Amino acid sequence: MSAHVRQSFALRAFALATLILVCAPLRAAASDFTLPPLPYPHDALEPAIDARTMQIHHGKHHQAYVDNLNRAIAADATLRGQPLEALMGRMSKLPDAVRNNGGGHWNHDFFWQSMTRPGQGGAPSTSLLAAIERDFGSLDKFKSAFRAAGLARFGSGWSWLIVGADGKLKVTSTPNQDNPLMDLATDRGTPLLGNDVWEHAYYLQYQNRRGDYLDAWWTVVDWSVVSRRHAAALTVGAAR
Ligand code: MN
Repeated sequence: MSAHVRQSFALRAFALATLILVCAPLRAAASDFTLPPLPYPHDALEPAIDARTMQIHHGKHHQAYVDNLNRAIAADATLRGQPLEALMGRMSKLPDAVRNNGGGHWNHDFFWQSMTRPGQGGAPSTSLLAAIERDFGSLDKFKSAFRAAGLARFGSGWSWLIVGADGKLKVTSTPNQDNPLMDLATDRGTPLLGNDVWEHAYYLQYQNRRGDYLDAWWTVVDWSVVSRRHAAALTVGAAR
């Protein structure tokens, strides 16, 4: 290697190292949050939810929430490096872009994990079923209340099963991408189950028949996940 080539190589290495150092904080800020892969193939939830809806819902809608959340976080140094859960409790004081896209990211991640292949969702744990019977009368009555909350949500939003600070289960719904963890929610609590009632969640397959989507959705609810969340929420509640 000639002296000229060596010098040129060293200069380029120096320039590259400088570029990496300069760009590192930007790069870190721009990738605070990433789209988690679906925990199952796109067609796993058929026939309740079709593969095309899942591809668009996860790959386009959820990706957009992640990208827009990262942009909103990058614009405000005080928000960087914080877990999403930490932002939920003070969402009323944060920009709308953080509320809408932070909620969008959290809600969808929670939603994907709440579902599994039809027939593989099992049943509520003994403890969860006892709590559902105590607070709603029966599993069927809970399902009716949850369905009614989804149907009654005008426009876009979510229906939820939550555990309140008093340990009781409650069905509630939120508009847009709000959720029960946010300080501005009417009913605050720990979410155990949430269903997306935005038209983008069901329109390709069900068009205006939101009720049919809500009915079919029970076949893909993963009760083992919901039961684990319930047990965790009670443990945290008991430690308070
Ligand atoms: Mn959605």
